[in-house]
Amino acid sequence: MKDARAELRTLTAQLKRRIASSDELDWGHGQKRRDKTLEELKLEVESCQKCPLGKTRIKAVFGVGNPRAKVMFIGEGPGYFEDRKGEPFVGRAGQLLDKILESIGLSRQTVYIANTVKCHPMKNPKTPDARSNDRPPIEEEMDACRPYLDEQIDLIAPRFIVTLGSVSTKAMLHNEEPISKVRGIWREYKTASGRLVDLLPTFHPAALLRNPDLKKLVWMDMKNLRSKLEKGV
Ligand code: SF4
Repeated sequence: MKDARAELRTLTAQLKRRIASSDELDWGHGQKRRDKTLEELKLEVESCQKCPLGKTRIKAVFGVGNPRAKVMFIGEGPGYFEDRKGEPFVGRAGQLLDKILESIGLSRQTVYIANTVKCHPMKNPKTPDARSNDRPPIEEEMDACRPYLDEQIDLIAPRFIVTLGSVSTKAMLHNEEPISKVRGIWREYKTASGRLVDLLPTFHPAALLRNPDLKKLVWMDMKNLRSKLEKGV
């Protein structure tokens, strides 16, 4: 009886050790157990002050969509309306993005949408209520925010990334070529943790509002994406 109890104690101790180390285990589909949730990452972002944008934002714009999305769309940064709503792509460009998604059978609920920076870059942060005060993020701001984006990509684990416009494309690819040259050509993005994701650059919806001739090129890119999704490659 004594031996049986000792054996049980040993087995229990072994089991506890295995459970304690299970954060490091591979859970059968090549994916390590997620030790941080998207919600926890969002809370970190909401209190972040790693760059000056954190001091002037109204709301951090973490991202929206399906946390298990196959496709992640990445824009440059929040603007006036996004800063107030805490959601990316809510203005006219956002409405156009919704139509682009719809054209290939996707939606805001099935993809994930984020930006290279989570807080609103302003030309003059002293006049936050002024309109036409938006500006693209600078390299230092995108570098400061990159760990959050990389963690988001690691947690969502999308099959494909679509960068919207030259700012996010250059930031992700470290590439100085104009968007007109790189759009429609698949590349690869590697997160800090080493995850590789196929990346397709295309124009920003705001560029389409300024120049509707670009719509046919974006349509070609979206058909390209749809074909990859259908083939599952
Ligand atoms: S932009 Fe990114 S790094 Fe800068 S304060 Fe906001 S969350 Fe932090």
